[in-house]
Amino acid sequence: MDEYNRLLERARSMIPEDAFKRSGERFQVPEVQVMIQGNRTFWQNFQEIIMVLNRKGKEVLKYMAGQLATAGTVEGSTAVFNGAFPRSLIQEVLERYIEAYVRCPVCTRPDTTIVKDKNAYYLQCSACGAKTSIRPI
Ligand SMILES: [Zn+2]
Repeated sequence: MDEYNRLLERARSMIPEDAFKRSGERFQVPEVQVMIQGNRTFWQNFQEIIMVLNRKGKEVLKYMAGQLATAGTVEGSTAVFNGAFPRSLIQEVLERYIEAYVRCPVCTRPDTTIVKDKNAYYLQCSACGAKTSIRPI
């Protein structure tokens, strides 16, 4: 019995400690910082967030502008939208983007990339290996 426990202990010690938990902790998306000026909305930490998401700014901007039904541009590290949109709305649309285009629907990890195969788009997960069909942005 002692021998069994020792083996069990040893096996456990060889598994990276909380491998999954660590992956989850790494994925902390900062809250969006938004400033409205006149009839334009400045998403100030746009660059920082797309780095965390590991997505192209162009793709995220296209999705956001489409959802907000307006035009958007990137100025430096800031995304700028025509129209006045509250912070809560930008946050909500970003979360929808993360659910649809960042999180793996199988294991819910964010370790994914978007791959194009012929004319279809997939979310390829490097955590569990799942390949999920997604709508093009
Ligand atoms: Zn997965």
